[in-house]
Amino acid sequence: MKFRELAEYFEKLENTSSRLTMTDTLAELFKKLSHDEIGKVLYLLQGRLTPLFVRLDFGMGEKMVIKAVISALSVDRAYFMNEYKKAGDIGLALSRIKEQTPSLHEKNLSILEVYDQLYKLANSGGVGSQETKLSYIIDLVQTLDPLSCRYVVRIPTGTMRLGFSDMTILDAFSVLAVGDKSHRPVIENAYHVRPDLGFIGSTIKKSGVKGLKNVTPQVFTPIIMMRAERLSDASEILKKNPNGLIEPKYDGFRLQIHCKKNGSSKEMTVKLYSRSLDEVTYMYPDIVAGVQKEVVCQNMIFEGEAIGYDQATDSFLPFQETVTRKRKYDIESHAIEVPLKLFVFELLYVDNKSFLNTPFTERREELEKHIKITSLRNEDAILLSPEKRADSAIIIEKEFEIAVSAGLEGIMIKKQDGVYKPGAREWNWIKYKRSYSKRIDDTIDCLVMGYDYGRGKRSDFGIGAFLVGVYDEKTDSYKTIAKIGTGLTDEEWKQIKINADKLKSIKKPALYDVDKMSEPDVWSKPELVVEIRADEITRSPVHTAGLALRFPRLERFREDKRAQEATSLDELNGLFKKQGSK
Ligand code: ATP
Repeated sequence: MKFRELAEYFEKLENTSSRLTMTDTLAELFKKLSHDEIGKVLYLLQGRLTPLFVRLDFGMGEKMVIKAVISALSVDRAYFMNEYKKAGDIGLALSRIKEQTPSLHEKNLSILEVYDQLYKLANSGGVGSQETKLSYIIDLVQTLDPLSCRYVVRIPTGTMRLGFSDMTILDAFSVLAVGDKSHRPVIENAYHVRPDLGFIGSTIKKSGVKGLKNVTPQVFTPIIMMRAERLSDASEILKKNPNGLIEPKYDGFRLQIHCKKNGSSKEMTVKLYSRSLDEVTYMYPDIVAGVQKEVVCQNMIFEGEAIGYDQATDSFLPFQETVTRKRKYDIESHAIEVPLKLFVFELLYVDNKSFLNTPFTERREELEKHIKITSLRNEDAILLSPEKRADSAIIIEKEFEIAVSAGLEGIMIKKQDGVYKPGAREWNWIKYKRSYSKRIDDTIDCLVMGYDYGRGKRSDFGIGAFLVGVYDEKTDSYKTIAKIGTGLTDEEWKQIKINADKLKSIKKPALYDVDKMSEPDVWSKPELVVEIRADEITRSPVHTAGLALRFPRLERFREDKRAQEATSLDELNGLFKKQGSK
């Protein structure tokens, strides 16, 4: 297929406000693509060249792309910047200018040719690479038609965001395979084990949905992580899980670790993934060195929680300090200032064998063959999470108190025969946390959907309130639950506006379900997640979730979560029902 035709699909997807049209448009596009094209197009649709978990940095900031565009168009910088300001988007400004000045150099390039050029651009490094990168962009802008240019420049600037979720794509795969959405569950199960849309798309294209039936984990492709249900009463926990195993709930960040020996050598390649599937290896050299030194295997996929630990005072660091390790610069010096301990609690795959369907106690037994149990005071960075049997409510309460007094969040209670279900929130794991509010058992992770301009004091910041919502898995849509106008520091207001402005959308994103009365002044595309604490959940005639938050305030930004990992509408309904019984 020619890139021009693909750009027309991009435009159609960008302009629709109906999820159904999006699904059908995607399925129609997938049908037309060849086996060689579909995988690459799936990455391009996400504004990328590789799956989410493969780091590929274009090494070009927006300024540099603008420089290349101006040079390709031979226009004045002030003129371009003015058009850019009017359009609010570099791609739109570029296509508008290009439409007025037809180029003599245009060629009707294929998708594979354009992809190839972008790939070379991203991979050029070393001396003189900035010039090479500029020349690739200049060439693409001069050779492609205006519509293609609009979307091509959005890839190195990271501003593609066509407005569908991965779930919309999975539905479209099902429509492609069988003409309706009935095969989405099978496709979704495979996606949870191998969340690489390119791989899933080309497998379906080649062998239909049956090609996905036996998908197994693959080292260096992160598995979507399992999550926990919540309860706040020891006897209820015991009822759900009479003989579970208790582990401390560390308040750090979760890592999925993939490692593999290189051929017959002793060297081991290690990659670390966050819960949102980003590859974060470069941030934690101490964990990488720990795995290389302490883990015994040919290849392995395992999980743990990394938390800052102060050897001198023998204490865990609070989340606010641990989280300073998530950084792009000064990594080495920070590793010394805030050393991490990784508490390993899960084994998913080892020496070419999947453990996803193996009971928890057997996974743990196997884990102990590969990671030795050491003491916290030891220099080792990699430790096994300790475990206690939860056979009475008294023991659960006691372990909870011990964990909280050690500065931890609470405890996790795990079912002995529970399997690891990628991507699911399951009773196999129950979290029992310090309760933040008397009535609600947990904080709520919300998606920022847009904001209102401020009046009065906050008009200086240009933001007075922001609209938040939760994800409704059943309809693949985001439903509103609150407009938050208080409870943030000045710094947080500024930060939320900066983040929301980066995601500005001129129209309501297709997956948003918002009542007219709650529509914000500025829409924000579905990406920014915040953790909200509230006093109560109430019924609401205005908010489309049917529920609203009373006295909501910002707890923290959740950069580790993707929009679809926000609290789900089902969970919110669960929390609402639970609070009634308190
Ligand atoms: P929370 O804000 O409570 O972490 P969440 O929705 O972000 O909730 P959940 O998956 O519901 O995430 O809670 C489980 C999280 O707790 C895990 O993702 C992991 O990061 C963390 N955790 C800490 N200690 C453990 C442990 N021993 N076993 C499993 N997960 C643990």
